[in-house]
Order: sequence, then structure tokens, then C-alpha cells
Amino acid sequence: KKIIVAIDGYSGCGKSTTAKAVAKVLQYTYLDSGAMYRAVTLFFLRNNTDLTNSQDIISNLKEIKITFHFNEAKGIQEIFMNGENVENEIRGMAVSSYVSEVSKLENVRTEMVNIQRKMGIDKGIVMDGRDIGTVVFPEAELKIFMTADTTIRAERRQKELLENGERISLDSVKENLESRDAIDTGRAVSPLKKASDAIEIDTSYLAFKDQVSKIIELAKE
Ligand code: C5P
Repeated sequence: KKIIVAIDGYSGCGKSTTAKAVAKVLQYTYLDSGAMYRAVTLFFLRNNTDLTNSQDIISNLKEIKITFHFNEAKGIQEIFMNGENVENEIRGMAVSSYVSEVSKLENVRTEMVNIQRKMGIDKGIVMDGRDIGTVVFPEAELKIFMTADTTIRAERRQKELLENGERISLDSVKENLESRDAIDTGRAVSPLKKASDAIEIDTSYLAFKDQVSKIIELAKE
């Protein structure tokens, strides 16, 4: 029987790498909900959307079409915004520094959650984010809440940014993670928190393959 696996947690805990690997083994669809918020943020940045003006937000949201396409060569799912592959650009610091402000907005969240629920309708999905187990799929059969030491998270994220061509100091990366966590946990709409029935996994000192196999075992129960 196919299920929904919801993976939530703080920024940079390795949710998406883990979720991707789990989806591959289970032969499920993987959906990166953070990428959707990042794509909206990129659009808003490019169009100088006024985050204090709900009319501006609503009319800009209408202009955005988000789709995912599987890149066979790379073996990964890539995100497209209005037909443009924005997979790399959304990972940069410009978007990372602004995304939590955009994700606070109720109009933005309502729209994203609607799309996410549609994508989960056939089950067999692994979705990672901040509100998947609490808001998007409160009925998910398996909920994971990932945590990790902040310095370890920052080191991992710094390495990813470097691979993406951005050299950022560890302090700046750490600051960005902490500031996003603060905004994500403190916002009024769908704040980041552990669902009461989620299983917490601290990945600080857990080998990647052990994280993955632990979740797969749980999914098979
Ligand atoms: O997962 P990722 O780090 O790419 O997410 C980027 C940002 O998008 C988060 O810091 C958070 O502000 C927002 N987000 C959210 N709800 C989700 C996924 C991401 O608010 N389900």
C-alpha cells in the first residue's frame, strides 16, 4: 500500500537529500515544497513585488506557474517557473535571504498548499518542507521531524552553495539558517513545528545511509 511520507524540520537538516533518496528506494514521487516557496520568492524579487500590498501579491501570484520535470541525465526533479528552469537560481543566497519573508504570507501559503495537496492525491509521495505533517497532509501515514546541530547544518549548506558556485562564509550561512528558523517557527500562519505524531530524527551524527534506511523501515511498517 502506498503512503504519504511527510518530512519536516529546520533549514539545512538534509531533509531534501534524505527525502530524495527515500523516494528513490520506495519508487515514490519526491516533491520539494521549499523549492516552490523559493520559486515564488524569485519571481517576487524579479518583479519587485511589494510584500506589504496584498493586491500586488495576489496579482503577482496569478502570473506564476510552477512545474516539476524529471531530469533523466541528472536523475533529479527540477523546478520550472513559467517554463524557465530555475533549479540553480533558487538555491542562491539572494533567494535564501528573502524566502522566509515571502513564506509568511497567507496568500502565498494557501496557493502552495493547494498545489501540494493535488500532487499528493495518488499517495506514493515523499514531500519535505516545514508544514507538511501539520498542515498539508495531517493524515500522512508517516511523519518525520528532522533536526541537527546548527554548525553542522551550516557546514553542509556552505558546501552545497560552493558546489553551486557561491562562496559564502560559515558565519553568514549560519546566520541565514538561524534567521529562517526564527521566522519559520515564529510566523502566524502554519509555523514550523513538530507534528504531535511525528518521529524526530537528529541527523547531526547519523550517517546519511542510516537516516535513509531508518525512514524506509518506518515506511514499510
Ligand atoms: O526547504 P527549503 O530550505 O528550501 O525552504 C526554504 C524556505 O521556504 C524555508 O526557510 C521556509 O521559509 C519556506 N518553506 C515553508 N514551508 C514549506 C517549505 C518551505 O514555509 N513547506
